[in-house]
Amino acid sequence: MATDRTVMPRAASEIRTFDVETDVLVVGYGCAGAAAAFEAASSGAQVLLLERASAGGGSSALAGGEIYLGGGTPIQRACGFDDDAEEMAKFLLAALGPDADREKVTLYAEQSVRHFEWLVERGVPFKPSLWDSPTWVPPTDDGLMWMGENSWPFTEIAKPAPRGHRPTSNDFGGWLLMKQLTAAVAAVGVDVLCDTYATNLVEGSGGDVLGVVARRYGMEYTVRARRAVVLTTGGFVDNEEMLALHAPQLVGHNKNSDGSDDGRGILMAQAVGAAVKHMSAGQIGISLVPGLIARGMIVNGQGQRFITEDTYPGLVGQAALYRQNMDVWVIIDEQGYEAVPEPERWGVRPYHVAGTPEELAALIGVPPAGLRATIDVYNEHAARGQDPLFHKSDRWLRPLVPPFAAIDVKMGLRPPSESGSGRGSGASVFTIGGLHTTVDGEVLNLDGRPVPGLFAAGRATSGLHSWGYISGTSLGDGTFFGRRAGAAAASM
Ligand SMILES: Cc1cc2nc3c(=O)[nH]c(=O)nc-3n(C[C@H](O)[C@H](O)[C@H](O)COP(=O)(O)OP(=O)(O)OC[C@H]3O[C@@H](n4cnc5c(N)ncnc54)[C@H](O)[C@@H]3O)c2cc1C
Repeated sequence: MATDRTVMPRAASEIRTFDVETDVLVVGYGCAGAAAAFEAASSGAQVLLLERASAGGGSSALAGGEIYLGGGTPIQRACGFDDDAEEMAKFLLAALGPDADREKVTLYAEQSVRHFEWLVERGVPFKPSLWDSPTWVPPTDDGLMWMGENSWPFTEIAKPAPRGHRPTSNDFGGWLLMKQLTAAVAAVGVDVLCDTYATNLVEGSGGDVLGVVARRYGMEYTVRARRAVVLTTGGFVDNEEMLALHAPQLVGHNKNSDGSDDGRGILMAQAVGAAVKHMSAGQIGISLVPGLIARGMIVNGQGQRFITEDTYPGLVGQAALYRQNMDVWVIIDEQGYEAVPEPERWGVRPYHVAGTPEELAALIGVPPAGLRATIDVYNEHAARGQDPLFHKSDRWLRPLVPPFAAIDVKMGLRPPSESGSGRGSGASVFTIGGLHTTVDGEVLNLDGRPVPGLFAAGRATSGLHSWGYISGTSLGDGTFFGRRAGAAAASM
């Protein structure tokens, strides 16, 4: 008898009667699962949505709610921006690379306006106004924000247009996306079974996936899927063993998840021969306030800048963790600090203040000559509105004046929607890699052929990305490829 720790598939021949049968079984009720279940049911299939928690939502409901959409959405147009699918794809290939999934990115960009409309048809509201400053999530209900498109080097790669669309909500908006998708799922008659944890796939004699074995209130519960199983179980940041195996640089950091990203869906699929992709990649929510670094600088342990500070902060986080081992400091002066309104500072305060770069360097343990040289070079060029090293927009450039302050990212942040100090390693992370899928969500095996009867979407898969990450691409590719996976599963 298999136990919860065993991920190997169960033979269908071993199961005398299934507890329940359906056409399409979707496992995991976050944004990807909701989108998949909706489309499968809308295609006329009988759909069962299985969820381990007592309600749907997943990490999706906790999210900022940014959804990466472009190509000329009504919100972009109302805010005065021209955009097209080609420019959107160019940006995504650069920002999510190297070697982002070209086929997925191209399709996603081409159908982005239609996906926006699909979300609006499901009742997801977006306000046609722009939040025009670097941030994680606008503190207002503005519906549009930049995601680094207007920062170097992307300004030289694609025509900039803001593409972060956030459902109308002050600060975090993932709850609203899930509220509307949950209503949509109910409206098309999807059966939802909560408190049920899928542990193993059920395999036919020909290697085809026929259902799942789950645990429900301590008992085994079996589900037969007549057409297909869709795995939308999220990533694996909560599984320490998997992190150590695949993404060791993410070990020891705060986790950006609902606590259920244990990678079980990925493991169950691997156990039937599924391939995985980009498992070492991670989103790094570095604990800093984007508006502060844009007005100041971020330096490494040598006191040197290493990235343009007005880009998407997750890219700053990736550079800080993967290239600087999180040995980084935010440097700012009083005018820069005061320019960021208090509600946007998320509890961040200067921890060290000094009259000279050398004194500040001594306080934070970086080479005094290094920090002095960095500030002198920055100031000399900033006075002329230039940044020859990292090309920060002249909008943010101004010589920094004493007293100088240093902020330790390890002191954490306190976003309005979260409790606690967030103090820790300086970063909250989640995994980006996962199952290797086609644009229709078919899960591929090591030969590059679809595993019969098995589909997946969301963070259980490797979506648009390889290594890079831009906020909005997770709720974006989860819902977009979730829809495609659900439709394809229903058509089996
Ligand atoms: C604080 C925070 C802010 C974020 N902000 C953004 C943002 O603004 N934009 C963006 O794009 N992304 C954001 N993200 C990331 C994004 O929320 C996730 O990557 C995305 O929601 C993943 O969607 P999903 O449907 O794949 O997984 P989830 O939403 O996590 O859903 C997976 C579901 O599967 C269930 N499950 C797991 N295993 C099993 C099992 N074995 N059996 C049954 N059920 C199972 C889980 O309980 C969960 O409900 C943020 C994340 C966090 C935590």
